[in-house]
Amino acid sequence: MSKKTDHPFRKRWGQNFLADRNLLDKIVRTIDPKKSDSILEIGPGEGALTELIYPLVKEMVAIEIDPMLIEHLKNRESLKGLNIVHGDVLLQDIESLPVKNLVRVIGNIPYNITSPIIFWLIEQLHFWDDAFIMMQKEVAERLSAVAGTKAYGRFTVVTGAYLNMDYCFTIPPDVFIPKPKVDSAIIRFTKKKTPIVPDDKYVRFNKLVATAFSQRRKMLRNTLKAWNFTDSVKERIDFTRRPESLTIEEFASMV
Ligand code: SAM
Repeated sequence: MSKKTDHPFRKRWGQNFLADRNLLDKIVRTIDPKKSDSILEIGPGEGALTELIYPLVKEMVAIEIDPMLIEHLKNRESLKGLNIVHGDVLLQDIESLPVKNLVRVIGNIPYNITSPIIFWLIEQLHFWDDAFIMMQKEVAERLSAVAGTKAYGRFTVVTGAYLNMDYCFTIPPDVFIPKPKVDSAIIRFTKKKTPIVPDDKYVRFNKLVATAFSQRRKMLRNTLKAWNFTDSVKERIDFTRRPESLTIEEFASMV
């Protein structure tokens, strides 16, 4: 394993670099890049995955927040012609990036912003096709949790209303430099053909679910007492229930 630059690891930007060629090859095989693909990479770091994917696709843009890494990426011979955007991914509109939409998204992302990145993807559903996102294994388990379990929460419900998830494989800590303390997983997201909640109700739905789970031990009639619901919702939903017992469809039927 080797690291290509001497730049310092920035913890606040969640920098754990992939440094195992076998694992990188496995990720590439899983993504299965095509000659016609437009790829958006979130957080390319030193470009370990970028340089394997870039030659295989039609076009690629990489968004990186760390200015030192931007310099490094620009200077790499193998990345000549790559569109590199310096900035915070969460502030970018996919539609305005210098690649044709729909993009395929890939990213070994900083784990501290996993849920904002997933919400960012949900808010821009019309501009991407699929997304391969690396995250803590425990977070991946939360995403696929079933109602009534401890792992089931806001993240599970909002994501599950819009996206399908495939658990690709687990990644052990020792393929990263520096090593994280936890196992990671790579998840493939695709969009539900018909989202359970229509786009125009996303904001209300997200707020409702966040409020309901803000105190997960409390009954809905307490956490949601400031909300107005139709008679039909009041008839269907028992407000003495706790949020973790409601299915994604039940939450969706409340907005
Ligand atoms: N993809 C590289 C790899 O696998 O070796 C680096 C992965 S590292 C876990 C996450 C990368 O995302 C870092 O390069 C970090 O600087 C970058 N990053 C962190 N926050 C970001 C943000 N808000 N927008 C774009 N890039 C970000």
